[in-house]
Amino acid sequence: MARVAIVTGGTRGIGEAISVGLKDAGYKVAAVYAGNDERARDFTERTGIAAYKWDVSQFDGCRDGVARVEADLGPVEVLVNNAGITRDSVMHRMTFEQWNEVIQTNLTSCFNMCRTVIDGMRERNFGRIVNIGSINGQAGQYGQVNYAAAKSGIHGFTKALAQEGAAKGITVNAIAPGYIDTDMVRAVPANVLEKIVARIPVGRLGRADEIARGVLFLVGDDAGFVTGSTLSINGGQHMY
Ligand code: NDP
Repeated sequence: MARVAIVTGGTRGIGEAISVGLKDAGYKVAAVYAGNDERARDFTERTGIAAYKWDVSQFDGCRDGVARVEADLGPVEVLVNNAGITRDSVMHRMTFEQWNEVIQTNLTSCFNMCRTVIDGMRERNFGRIVNIGSINGQAGQYGQVNYAAAKSGIHGFTKALAQEGAAKGITVNAIAPGYIDTDMVRAVPANVLEKIVARIPVGRLGRADEIARGVLFLVGDDAGFVTGSTLSINGGQHMY
């Protein structure tokens, strides 16, 4: 029986590559998005993967959304917490809203989604959770106190939940991508991006499918001994 996977932020960028990679590997995939209906429609037409709209920063929305996915596809055995946003600003100009939106969307979402699926995974003695962190959660980044705090939080979250899940067949790992060619990175001013690429030893931005490869490894049935780890996929930019 094909395992059921939810990929949050699964309709664009890194999440799209993860959704497609999982589908190609035989998983039944539900891709979650926040509000960009046009991109989600286009994604479903191109890939045949169902897109579900809910806000992962809201606990009740996650609970209702997961219930819809489970009614359509079956119990969720794989969860990829990938949805994320940036609201960059230096601390002395950052508003509470910029801080809070990033923490809720990037970090509280991991609680909301994991809390919703964890009981079922524990009952079935199987689960694979992958949380998408960031190089900037490992190394910090000017103008991203909110984002670095949320992503750094994901790494601690991962290690703690991995300890709780280990005896129940549930693995919990993180991937810390470096700079990947997606809408999020295309929004960075060209002169800043040039300087970033100059600091990547491999000499280019990463591709979304290079992150998807890491996810596929971590969610495999045969990856049961890999838990609590962070896989850095960053072209050698930060060796942690
Ligand atoms: P994109 O901006 O390209 O896509 C973001 C996706 O997340 C979209 O599908 C979006 O939905 C969804 N999303 C955003 N907010 C919510 C929400 N509240 N509820 C549900 N879905 C939401 O992002 P990337 O592909 O670039 O990044 C994916 C992840 O990887 C993020 O967590 C990011 O922080 C992380 N990352 C990215 C790096 C990069 O270089 N790109 C580097 C390191 C980490 P919609 O289309 O509706 O807006």
